Amino acid sequence: MIDEKKLDRLAELSVKTGVALQPGQDLLLTAPVEALPLVRRIAIHAYKAGAGVVTPLFSDPEIVLARYKHAPSQSFDKAAAWLYNGMSEAFDNNTARMAIAGDDPMLLSNEDPDKVGRANKANSIALKPARERITQFKVNWNIISWPGKAWAMRMFPELPIDEAQAKLADAIFSASRVDFDDPVKAWEDHNAKLRVRSNWLNEKSFHALHFSGPNTDLTVGLAEDHEWMGGASKAENGVVCNPNIPSEEVFTTPHALRVDGKVSSTKPLSHQGSLIDNIQVQFEAGKIVEAKASKGEEVLLKVLDSDEGARRLGEVALVPDSSPISQSGLLFYNTLFDENAACHIALGQCYSKCFKSKTNLSEAEVKAKGGNSSMIHIDWMIGSKEIDIDGISESGDRTPVFRKGEWV
Ligand code: ZN
Ligand code: ZN
Repeated sequence: MIDEKKLDRLAELSVKTGVALQPGQDLLLTAPVEALPLVRRIAIHAYKAGAGVVTPLFSDPEIVLARYKHAPSQSFDKAAAWLYNGMSEAFDNNTARMAIAGDDPMLLSNEDPDKVGRANKANSIALKPARERITQFKVNWNIISWPGKAWAMRMFPELPIDEAQAKLADAIFSASRVDFDDPVKAWEDHNAKLRVRSNWLNEKSFHALHFSGPNTDLTVGLAEDHEWMGGASKAENGVVCNPNIPSEEVFTTPHALRVDGKVSSTKPLSHQGSLIDNIQVQFEAGKIVEAKASKGEEVLLKVLDSDEGARRLGEVALVPDSSPISQSGLLFYNTLFDENAACHIALGQCYSKCFKSKTNLSEAEVKAKGGNSSMIHIDWMIGSKEIDIDGISESGDRTPVFRKGEWV
């Protein structure tokens, strides 16, 4: 059984703290059909908060699989561009965005990697305008999770399905801080703590970070005028929202041309239905020149060939090993959770909001400061309790930032 009271608190939290919906603002919401009970509660809280129109768009795993089973080959080079263009138009008209995750993270793991790769690529291209409005933070947005049954069975295969779902629900509620009597207040306190970390890093304004640990010796140059962010932040429309619930990270934009050395993943990466494990890559002058994985290598290599920017970094994020999600000891096979259990890097598109600039930077300005651009943004975990991180100043001085996976 999913705790109804906590589910309702999650819905309320996502409206008030997550997306911070403003009176009169429309809301566009995407969700798996299974998440309908949560979506209905969100709609209630959204209208109570003064929403204009709430528009839910649902997806269904059976229909996704039907495509792989029955669609003609050409289908896999297509995407619903008209729908994504409509989303872009909605964002241009100040519609807020909410996404509910909860699908089976390995839905496509038995499908033809070529079809999966082509479908992902077609989708990424069609989604570009809408995705850019989100990465440029034009409007307030938020992602939360529904405890999907197939997802729960991946995490707790030994349990009966209802018990597995209830256990995942509890893990989501706890990580999202809806265990507290007043989750909105709990998030205010949490945001304040994250701000202390990001303020310190912004004061230091390191030239690079150096990660060392098992199979890892990686220098990540940071973009010029990079700004560390975490927790609540302000969208271009002026609304302060919490894009990710949960969120334990502080993150910034690396320099696309100044990443060198080797790094290995510390948790499996679930990417659009495929599992990629034990990633090992070598960077030279910002670019991945060698990559392998013990599982899902074919998918990984396809991802790296998505476009020019796919082999370069767009994000670096710091998360202590003591984060509640890490301490839960659970592997969620879901980036929204797993990225909050460990330090991570992301291949592809950078967040153009992660710059100390008063005005909105153009694409060319972002590039000039070292920000990467790509149609992908894929986070993968490189942190563990064995990782040390030093901050390196322009003149080469080193400051300890993390020791054994914890803030110094
Ligand atoms: Zn991140
Ligand atoms: Zn990311």
